[in-house]
Order: sequence, then structure tokens, then C-alpha cells
Amino acid sequence: MYSWSRVYCVLSQKNHFSRIPHGLQRISFAAWRNYSEKALEADVTVVGSGPGGYVAAIKAAQLGFQTVCVEKNDTLGGTCLNVGCIPSKALLNNSHLYHLAHGKDFASRGIEVTGIRLNLEKMMEQKSGAVKSLTTGIAHLFKQNKVVHVQGFGRITGKNQVTATKADGSTQVINTKNILIATGSEVAPFSGIPIDEETIVSSTGALSLKQVPEKMVVIGAGVIGVELGSVWQRLGADVTAVEFLGHVGGLGIDMEISKNFQRILQKQGLKFKLNTKVTGATKRPDGKIDVSIEAAAGGKEEVITCDVLLVCIGRRPYTENLGLQELGIELDNRGRIPINSRFQTKMPNIYAIGDVVAGPMLAHKAEDEGIICVEGMAGGAVHIDYNCVPSVIYTHPEVAWVGKSEEQLKEEGTEYKVGKFPFAANSRAKTNADTDGLVKILSHKSTDRMLGAHILGAGAGEMINEAALAMEYGASCEDVARVCHAHPTVSEAFREANLAASFGKAINF
Ligand SMILES: Cc1cc2nc3c(=O)[nH]c(=O)nc-3n(C[C@H](O)[C@H](O)[C@H](O)COP(=O)(O)OP(=O)(O)OC[C@H]3O[C@@H](n4cnc5c(N)ncnc54)[C@H](O)[C@@H]3O)c2cc1C
Repeated sequence: MYSWSRVYCVLSQKNHFSRIPHGLQRISFAAWRNYSEKALEADVTVVGSGPGGYVAAIKAAQLGFQTVCVEKNDTLGGTCLNVGCIPSKALLNNSHLYHLAHGKDFASRGIEVTGIRLNLEKMMEQKSGAVKSLTTGIAHLFKQNKVVHVQGFGRITGKNQVTATKADGSTQVINTKNILIATGSEVAPFSGIPIDEETIVSSTGALSLKQVPEKMVVIGAGVIGVELGSVWQRLGADVTAVEFLGHVGGLGIDMEISKNFQRILQKQGLKFKLNTKVTGATKRPDGKIDVSIEAAAGGKEEVITCDVLLVCIGRRPYTENLGLQELGIELDNRGRIPINSRFQTKMPNIYAIGDVVAGPMLAHKAEDEGIICVEGMAGGAVHIDYNCVPSVIYTHPEVAWVGKSEEQLKEEGTEYKVGKFPFAANSRAKTNADTDGLVKILSHKSTDRMLGAHILGAGAGEMINEAALAMEYGASCEDVARVCHAHPTVSEAFREANLAASFGKAINF
């Protein structure tokens, strides 16, 4: 909770303004104190405390900017920490452990367990505990970095002003030199299928179901659809994902990886209806839901019945009541805020980052944009290579990729080489009895530069950071292949795939 005494404390810090970049006006503490009865003064006001907003606010404060972060929710952390990345990963991890213990997997490892029982309430409690400790951690980081947190709905009421309306209707005006919009995104609705978050749920409701549904239908087999579908399938639901496209895993995934991924998920029990569209859903008097589907290209209608329908068709930028129209800032055709390469809107002191602007809707993309955006305000260089932003699907096995897919390289007409290494030939994967999947590396045919890395396997989400680092440094596959990798590790498969791409042959396969 924001307190005046803390702001006084913030502003009375010795040398608090000493690192404010040239050109930004300083105010004396006395002047600020007189004015503070009515309004706050800030160099940077961040609207939204998701991974984009809270990270930007901390970085701005570290750069010496007097920083305020306005958040409408009573917890910090945005979609990612409250209803996105964090709770979904808690459920993915625990449902995976349950699945391992419950199935034949443990017994085949010589671990015989009996009386395995799901305590869903406890599982949800662990998830909520992880969320709570991380969201309250942000409040601590704000305090440590002297970011002033204002709880309330932020509206841009002038070129240099944000007004936060609190739950009790009172308002807090913040006069500010710069405004950073980090208001994120919201669930995209499916026309004609209203969400009640009980039996017809969005990803938010799917993170808090009170019981395991007998049958679940997921609309959309993209990243979030397969992650949450996996959770409930592992906990015992019969899950069918209906996908308009002809593949699973969403946009950007390499098709060879997607096919293998689909095969593995199907082996686990997930069902897919690809090239299929949902045309409607009706709640029956017995509480069940009839979901009408037909081929994407049109055809005979079919009905599948379920207890829970999960609508996972994507997210859309959130800019409601932000005051953009009054400022003359128009949205693009997908509701996103147009910005230039320094994240400036058409008003140079109003910036926007994260899900509310173009690019992949990912927490780490929002974070990186937040950091370089405020560095840019301080006069620094602003550069981000979106080709090096990794994507991860946290199922088991995981899928992770960075850079170009084989399909993209073909489309561009780039000549490339392919190096592959299956986890079945990796010693650590063998010892772990977790050998599904492969590493696939794409490199430039003549320069050997790494152009894309695609990993399907346990721990792919960790391993992909090695590929992102290599690509950021413009590494060749030979560079990676010559780096000593610890043995036995799963990452040796990454090295071997680079060896295969660069020299045409791996050692252990
Ligand atoms: C189920 C699920 C799982 C996901 N898993 C992953 C994952 O594993 N990895 C990954 O990278 N991404 C994941 N994402 C996506 C990720 O959550 C988003 O890309 C990320 O949160 C975007 O960050 P942001 O800061 O732009 O916006 P958000 O996190 O959406 O935060 C925006 C914040 O702004 C606040 N706000 C909005 N308007 C106002 C206003 N007017 N005044 C004050 N406050 C306002 C909101 O309350 C919110 O707190 C997942 C998303 C979902 C739904």
C-alpha cells in the first residue's frame, strides 16, 4: 500500500536525484513537499505492474528517475504472476509429478508407491503460495528500489499527467515528465460463447477449477491451450483440443517439431481435432456443454459434449479507459498502441511496451522492452533483436525455439543446413529415462551462423537460453560445438546437434 511517509522518505534520500539524466528538471524536496498535498511529482510514471511495467519501474528508479507505478489490481505482477506464467507453471509441475507417480513410470524405475491420491485443494494452495510470495516480492523490490506504488486505475489525463482512481473513488494525481504504458492484455472472447469462469472458462478459470472435469474441450491448441489441457489431462480429465490450424503449438513452431510434439502428447492421452472450427456452445440443463464443431473449410457439423469448456483463442491488448483517444493516440487494427523503435507513441514522452504493443505476447519480451525503453529515456541506445526472443511450451516434454523455423527459411529463400540429435542418444536423458524428443539446429549454409534452434525434450525451456545467447552473439554452429559441455548433461544434445549442423555428423549418433 502506498504511504505518504514513504514518499517523503524516498525524496529525502541523499543524492536521490544525482543520477537523473541531463535535461530532466529537478525539484527540491521543499517544493515537492508543498505540492504533495495535492499531487505526486514523477520523472517516470508506469501504468501497469506486469513483467513489463514492474521491471521498467525498478530499472527507471535504478537509473535515478523518480518513479511511480500505478496498478489497478490489489496485487502486483500483472497477468504473468497472477493468472499466467507462474500459476500455470506451478500446476504443470505438480500435475506432471502426480502423473509420474500415478502411472507406470515410477514403478518402472523401481519406486513402488501405493495409495496415490490427488488433493486438488492442496495443489491449488501450493500454486497460490508461489503466486503470493512472488507478487509480494515485487512490493519488496519496489521499496528497496524506491519506486512509489499507487494502487488505482490509471488514466492519462494530460500529456504530463496520470490520474489514479482508487477503489474508494478517491483520486491521486501524478504530474510526470514521462509516461510508460504497460497495461498488458486480456483474454480474447469467443463470439457467442460467454465465459462464466465455472464451466465455460478462460485460462484464468482453468487455473482454479474446483474439481477435475470428466471431459474437457479446449478451443485452441496453441501454447496456453496445450499447457492447460495437459494439466487437466494428467489429473484425470479426458481432454480434446479443437484447433483451426493444421498443427499444434501455435505460430512460429517448426513443423517437424510440432508433428513430433503432437505424437507425444497423443501418446499421453490428449486428443486433437485439427483443421476444425468451433461454431458454438450450448449449456444443457444437466450442466454439461454441447460444443458444435465442423471442418475449418466447412462441412458436416459434429457435437462433442464436455463438463468444462476452456476458451483459449488468444489475448488482446488492454487499453480500456486509458485516455488515449483524448490524446489523439489511435490504436492499430489489432488494438495495439503504435510505437517507434524507441517505444515512443506519437507523443514523444508517452511510451508503451509489452503485450499492449506489437510482437509476441511473452513476459520476457515485455521485461526486455521495459528495461531498454527506460534506458532510452535516460539517453541510452535502444535495441532489441526480436529474432532472439525465445518461445517455450512448458508441457512434458517441453518445446522451445528461438530464431527461424525451417518453413520460414524456405519462405525467405535462405540456404541452410540442418543438424539434429535425438535425446534417445543422450546419456543423461537415458539415465533419466526421459528420452522423448530431439534438438534441431538450423544454420546458414555458407557462413555456419546459427539461424534457429528448436528443441523438443525435458528441460528444453532451460536449454533454449544457450541458443539465444549464441544467436545474440552471432555464433556459428562450430563455435557452440567447440564449447566444452559438462557430462553427463542433457545440454550435450544441443552441442551434438550443432556439431551435426557444422560438420555434417554428430559423435554419439
Ligand atoms: C495462462 C497464461 C500463461 C502464460 N504463460 C507464459 C509463460 O510461461 N511465459 C511467458 O513469457 N508468457 C506467458 N504468458 C503471457 C504473459 O503473461 C504476458 O505476455 C505478460 O504478462 C505481459 O506482460 P505485460 O507487463 O505487458 O502485461 P500484463 O502482465 O498483462 O500486466 C498489465 C498490468 O497492467 C494493469 N493495468 C491495466 N490497465 C491499467 C490501468 N489503466 N491502470 C492501472 N493498471 C492497469 C493490469 O492490472 C496488469 O496488472 C502467459 C499468459 C497466460 C494467460
